[in-house]
Amino acid sequence: MDARPQPLWRPLLLGLALALLVSALLLLRDRAVQREAFETQARIAHRLLSQQAVQHEAILGTLVLLQADHDAAAGQGLSTLFAQILSVDRRGPGEAWPDPAWAEAEDRATRSGHAEAVTPDTDAFSNAGRLRLVQPGKPASYALQIDLARMVPRAEWPERVGDSPDAPPLRMALQVDGGPSWALPLPAGTHVDSLPSGGWSFEFRKHLAAASQPFDLVVRWHSGWSGWPWWGLLASWVLSLGSVFGLWRLRRDWQAQAERQRRAEAQLRFGQVARLNALGELAAGIAHELNQPLTAVLASTQAAGRLLAEDPPELDDARSAMQRAVRQARRASEVLQRLRALVRPGSDVPAADEAAAVALAPAVRHALDLLAGDLDRLAVQPALDLPEPLAVQADAVTLEQILHNLLSNALQALTQVPPAERRLVISAHARGPDAIELRVTDHGLGVPEAQRAQLFEPFFTTRDGGLGLGLSLCETLAASAGGSLHFEPAEPRGAVFVLRLPASVTAPQPRSTTP
Ligand code: ADP
Repeated sequence: MDARPQPLWRPLLLGLALALLVSALLLLRDRAVQREAFETQARIAHRLLSQQAVQHEAILGTLVLLQADHDAAAGQGLSTLFAQILSVDRRGPGEAWPDPAWAEAEDRATRSGHAEAVTPDTDAFSNAGRLRLVQPGKPASYALQIDLARMVPRAEWPERVGDSPDAPPLRMALQVDGGPSWALPLPAGTHVDSLPSGGWSFEFRKHLAAASQPFDLVVRWHSGWSGWPWWGLLASWVLSLGSVFGLWRLRRDWQAQAERQRRAEAQLRFGQVARLNALGELAAGIAHELNQPLTAVLASTQAAGRLLAEDPPELDDARSAMQRAVRQARRASEVLQRLRALVRPGSDVPAADEAAAVALAPAVRHALDLLAGDLDRLAVQPALDLPEPLAVQADAVTLEQILHNLLSNALQALTQVPPAERRLVISAHARGPDAIELRVTDHGLGVPEAQRAQLFEPFFTTRDGGLGLGLSLCETLAASAGGSLHFEPAEPRGAVFVLRLPASVTAPQPRSTTP
């Protein structure tokens, strides 16, 4: 899983996209609602105007039917009944209309069978809002002049969409097919000259339902910016961005937690693998420690076998070879005991009070004896500076193990330099009344500065096939004996391992492992 911090622009973009989408849906819905409200108002206006137009036809039809005389029809009566009727004209038999256009309208009406409008000129229609209808009749024909502005009482007229007095007004017009149009004023005479800019714009266009007055009612409306659902839009942005950011943070926290868990599991796995490795290496370490005494046992018993096979058998030499084998076998057993004590603290460990006074010089010589083969092979003659009376308070096998490891390491180091330069010095001195210091100095290549801090760490090794357990084991053994082990660079080159142990207060006992 990718645990890198996730860039902020992703949720930001997603939030913006979501906010835009929600806003678009909100606006579309708002537009649909406004359209419906607008069309409701426009239909009301259309229905009112259509009713009036039909009423004009009815009035004319009644006049023709009754053949009302001119004065009666002239309308005081009609004008008071119908506010929009400005005048009534009558053409009796043999009379002529005052305007040929009226006669032309009558001709059309005779052909169509219903009243016809005098073709409105721009001046009368668009400027004055006047319209004249002619209905042929026998013996007399009639004409009505209508004031378009008064067709509908104000109280019934739909002025706006919605109830708010601040809502933008509707703009309406009657338009003759392709001809002049009359911008319908409100009944009070107020024109709506311009519509607000911005917002939604709607248009409604429909023929009046009267054959004599074939006009379109055109209704236009701009809702204006103030009609937009600003609060809803704001809320949609806040909610969209907020929810996307919230989800993003949740996802991020969840991923971080999953990553932590994954690491913890990996560490657990690594720990298990490391423990298995350590176990394997420990086993190899034990083999390493046992290899030397077992090889010596083998060599001694083989030598004894050869000596016994001689004629006559070399009994004395064979006996001492067997005694060497016994010593090495004991050493192997003690090494195992040490290792067990290291691996399982609290088991059968030789305690500090089991430590005895051990003479240092014989212990070093014994360790060198064990390595005699290697010393010969490398042509190394160790220089010893070991004052005889020096003795340490320690367990003999512990001391032997430490010495054996330090000397083996020194010999390993000397393999890297030419035979003429192979020098090994072992010296011991009292350090105050309570401590003895033993220094194993080889003039090999030494330890590079960068590796010195790791020298005593378990499994640190630079040697092919090395285990890196020798020095860490020696340090532990020295500490358990109440002493210490540390490294110093040798001059001009090489390594010094300084072993410090408590000085013995009693006289040393003869070596217990020597039969
Ligand atoms: P191993 O011998 O298995 O490598 P040790 O714990 O005995 O394990 O030694 C660890 C490392 O310390 C060696 O690999 C080597 O690099 C370094 N070392 C130990 N003794 C010496 C020495 N006398 N001279 C130079 N390097 C040494």
